Amino acid sequence: MSENDPSAKEKTLFGKGIDNPSNILPKKLTLESKIKFRCHPGVSCFTACCHGIKIVLTPYDILQLKNRLGLPAHEFLEKYTTPVYLEKTDMPGVALKLSEDKDRNPCPFVTPEGCTVYTDRPSACRYYPVGMADFHEGQGAMGEGADQKDEEKFFFIVKEDHCKGFEEDKEWTVAEWRKDQGVDVRDEMNKEWLRLVMRRKSFGHQASLSDQAKRMFFMASTDLDHFKRFIFESTFLDTYVVDDETLEKIKADDVELMLFSFRYLASSLFGADKGLNIREDKIQERVEVIKKSQEDSVVQSVEDYKAIKKARGEEVDPDL
Ligand code: SF4
Ligand code: SF4
Repeated sequence: MSENDPSAKEKTLFGKGIDNPSNILPKKLTLESKIKFRCHPGVSCFTACCHGIKIVLTPYDILQLKNRLGLPAHEFLEKYTTPVYLEKTDMPGVALKLSEDKDRNPCPFVTPEGCTVYTDRPSACRYYPVGMADFHEGQGAMGEGADQKDEEKFFFIVKEDHCKGFEEDKEWTVAEWRKDQGVDVRDEMNKEWLRLVMRRKSFGHQASLSDQAKRMFFMASTDLDHFKRFIFESTFLDTYVVDDETLEKIKADDVELMLFSFRYLASSLFGADKGLNIREDKIQERVEVIKKSQEDSVVQSVEDYKAIKKARGEEVDPDL
């Protein structure tokens, strides 16, 4: 199976309803629900779920992996990822590029001994096989009430036939499992970006993003080196109000820069109220441009009207 095959399996990253794919057990779980599961090198299926699978990367995944491998973002993207559209939207993202030189399309980081980037493995690998649904499609995303919606989250199990982890005796609560996998930090890091995608998804096909907006979303989501240059070496700071403390933080810390990029995207794609403010003088400049263009259109339409009257040999009102 190739990673481009639409039927390729996908490790759950985005919150999905429990009535979605058939391998999702139709039972809502809470943090206190018990699950019986253990994955370790002794299971007969060890690393089976690291082959022929689509693993979409979040901005935080990319940051962690490229740091782990000591690569600049663009090199990491070129070597280890392939472009995808996120959650059937027109938002561009990346997934891990599976190796094509073997029968089973392995993840580039898998070996018979396990994952070579385990402590920095992507979010989707950590969530598996416990998915979380809390990103309500079409509501709650970044807007009023989003925090309350978080409290409505629930969990579900993705159970695939080949996974023998469910036959193990180890029992834990969903909360214990998530802590063990380090997903709480990932949730926090991914939250605003996932909301952007789910918000976009809620629009369906009613509107499409401009090519420029897609390019901006892709750049800010995948290449923080590039995004940093965009902030500090373009007219960005002449256009947006960013306080000194924030500027210092995003200069010094890539995680702060990433979180800032989500605010910027929310503002530029959706005009979200928690986004960024445009400088007053820039707003005024824009208002002047719009006013001028409206005045020009009025003058032009009067001229057109006069020309039509003249062509018909009719008198033109001298007050026009
Ligand atoms: S990153 Fe690691 S855990 Fe995830 S699919 Fe690849 S080898 Fe498996
Ligand atoms: S298929 Fe299940 S048990 Fe096997 S390696 Fe993957 S998660 Fe572990």
